[in-house]
Amino acid sequence: MKAAVLNAPQTPLSIEELTLDKPGPTEAVIRVIAAGVCHSDLHFIEGTYPTRHPAVLGHEVAGVVSEVGSAVTNVSPGDRVIIGFVQPCGHCADCDSGRPNLCSQGAPRRESPGLMRDGEAVTQMANVGGFAEYVITYASGLVKVADDISLEIAALVGCSVMTGYGAVVNTAGVTPGSTVAVIGAGGVGLNIIQAAALAGAEKVIAVDMVEHKLTTARDFGATDVIDAGDGDPVAKLQELTGGGVDFAFEAIGLKVTAEQAYQMAKRGGTAVVVGMVPPMDKIEVSGMIWLEEKTLKGSFYGGARFHRDMPNILNLYRQGKLNLDGLVTRRYKLEEINEAFDALKNGEVTRSVLAIGIE
Ligand SMILES: [Zn+2]
Ligand SMILES: [Zn+2]
Repeated sequence: MKAAVLNAPQTPLSIEELTLDKPGPTEAVIRVIAAGVCHSDLHFIEGTYPTRHPAVLGHEVAGVVSEVGSAVTNVSPGDRVIIGFVQPCGHCADCDSGRPNLCSQGAPRRESPGLMRDGEAVTQMANVGGFAEYVITYASGLVKVADDISLEIAALVGCSVMTGYGAVVNTAGVTPGSTVAVIGAGGVGLNIIQAAALAGAEKVIAVDMVEHKLTTARDFGATDVIDAGDGDPVAKLQELTGGGVDFAFEAIGLKVTAEQAYQMAKRGGTAVVVGMVPPMDKIEVSGMIWLEEKTLKGSFYGGARFHRDMPNILNLYRQGKLNLDGLVTRRYKLEEINEAFDALKNGEVTRSVLAIGIE
């Protein structure tokens, strides 16, 4: 099968022929229909986050199950699925306490590589590796999708929508009448914005340096916008709100914007870091945290309870309460993947989707 392979950091992806193993007892093979092009993939291409090479990236994926292992009961061949990039074990303390996104066990590891190039193991990002015609992964990460939802939309729910919506609903618990700031109005940020608006926030303030992203943010429910390229965004936000917001979200993945999120939270407020801040960076906060009673939290995969949250999100979309169609700005073929990443780097798109297979 064809896949886009990363052979070294800071090099273009190359389309190559790879082979898949047969699924183990708890695994499934999925024919990929659509894969979103996400900033998290870019972190691995740019080398901000390490990975073993060769690697297939792609973790925002939906497709059709083509084969399942002997012990798989949650999906069958022909099922349309979102491929979750965490595959929870279902029985550890984290899974048991309703935090499967933090599952410490994971699904049982296979002994031989699932994906190979001429006998050499190929890393699959997050056990997914969706920039490919097929994915072999643990079935516990698969969430079924009803027939009335396109797999392009379902793919987005696999990362950016779940991450943004979940950061609001699960991690922060945004309340009606509260004030919210969102730094970064990209694929994840727009979902934070629309989920905060849906949760009844009185003010949803989008902060970005790209003008057209601020315009889009208004379409997704931002009540106010701050151009971070023109003066100090923290001072502007404090002026606009009279001292800060109840909830500030960082959706870019930088030390400086994580610190700004903390500064934007008012006394008693909460800052939530959603973006992939480089692992060696330190986020510095004021020693007055005790007096101000501020909370600084991380949010991974929107604190997803996959089998509850993803169908809920799709239901809100069906009811017209979440705008997921508006997230897709461009479509590319798998062969055009490097162009899609260039467009992402240049801030041209909200979300590009690779149309890899046909249903
Ligand atoms: Zn992602
Ligand atoms: Zn677990």
